[in-house]
Amino acid sequence: MTSKKYHLILMYAIVISALCGVLFGWLYGAQAQKISWIGDGFLNILKALAIPLILFSLTSAVASLKDIRQIGPLGGSTLFYYFLTTALAVLTGLILVNLIEPGLGFAQIENEIPDKVLQKSEFTMNDILAGISANLFIILILISLSAGVLLSLFQKKAVKVIKIVETLNRLTMKILHWFLWSAPIGIFAIVASKFGKAGDAFWVELSKVALYSLTVIIALFIHAAFTLPLILHYYGKKNPFQYFKTLLPALGTAFSTASSSATLPVTIESVSEEEDVPKSVSSFVLPLGATVNMDGTALYEAVAAVFIAQAYGIDLTIFQQVIIFFTANLAAIGAAGIPEAGLVTMIIVLKAVNLPLEGIGLLISIDWFLDRFRTTVNVWGDSVGALAIAKYMKKKKNTCPHELL
Ligand code: ASP
Repeated sequence: MTSKKYHLILMYAIVISALCGVLFGWLYGAQAQKISWIGDGFLNILKALAIPLILFSLTSAVASLKDIRQIGPLGGSTLFYYFLTTALAVLTGLILVNLIEPGLGFAQIENEIPDKVLQKSEFTMNDILAGISANLFIILILISLSAGVLLSLFQKKAVKVIKIVETLNRLTMKILHWFLWSAPIGIFAIVASKFGKAGDAFWVELSKVALYSLTVIIALFIHAAFTLPLILHYYGKKNPFQYFKTLLPALGTAFSTASSSATLPVTIESVSEEEDVPKSVSSFVLPLGATVNMDGTALYEAVAAVFIAQAYGIDLTIFQQVIIFFTANLAAIGAAGIPEAGLVTMIIVLKAVNLPLEGIGLLISIDWFLDRFRTTVNVWGDSVGALAIAKYMKKKKNTCPHELL
């Protein structure tokens, strides 16, 4: 079967299975939770596959770079892309939440800090740094980069080792390829059990914070459908619709799992379809992005903070909104790529402007649902980055060949 056909089948199968999962969950309610083990198994295998995937693809990509100095500009432009897009996402969120004012006149003020938040209420900048340094993906990236650089320094002597690493990389991709045939079943089980668990209470909870949820979703949509495609068009020279279609298996997995880390293998697999993105770029930009580049999470944290202020009748000054802007960016970097991580790092944003942590209680019941949208945008942001950065690096290489061989 051709690779194009494989992706097409996978794309439709994942989207259809997610929709069927929603239906099944609503029809069978709590009963649907009985199949949650299938989804858990699927997720565990995906997470396990991410390890050799990062290790072998990044090591072999760096080892085969003609000029190891390319890593500098690649790292620089990647970080610049992450900061720029996350900042634009937060700005979009802040503008919308100030325009729509979903928290104004909000009646249901809960006064309890949710347990999840209570345990972490001393969350600080230090915790963010500790979280990043302990993140498995970051550790794997550092190990692979070092191994790749070492191998490239020994070019001739290391040829055999590089070949072995490349073979292992191909082998892992092949296993992933096969394994993804089970994605529709895994995704169906995850979605069905999650929506089944939420049951009818979901609509009640959603209606309480409907305007807030709508604000988050509209802002995410603007970022995903206008801002990122503009960057894709300008830097990536790519039709956003086409790229979106290529990415559908990854975006569907992100929506179903609410975890950018678990989705990473599918993201790598989908982006590998795009011939303009070399392995040296995707194997660096995607794992790092799954850990630190979270446009959707940052946007959501800013909207949530301002919503809480509005709901509690607290007037925020422009200066406080600027602080929210910066801390939301930071909090998103600190959030791990796992379900509802953003809810906890939001503590940093709230504390920075003295907003009540109890406010998180207003959002907690609906967070699992909004998490799906923001995770999808997180993964879309990483993937747009991979293509835009690849094209940018190529352009730079052509314009100043001495600097970047
Ligand atoms: N679930 C998100 C992700 O994995 C993080 C978050 O916003 O909670 O990207």
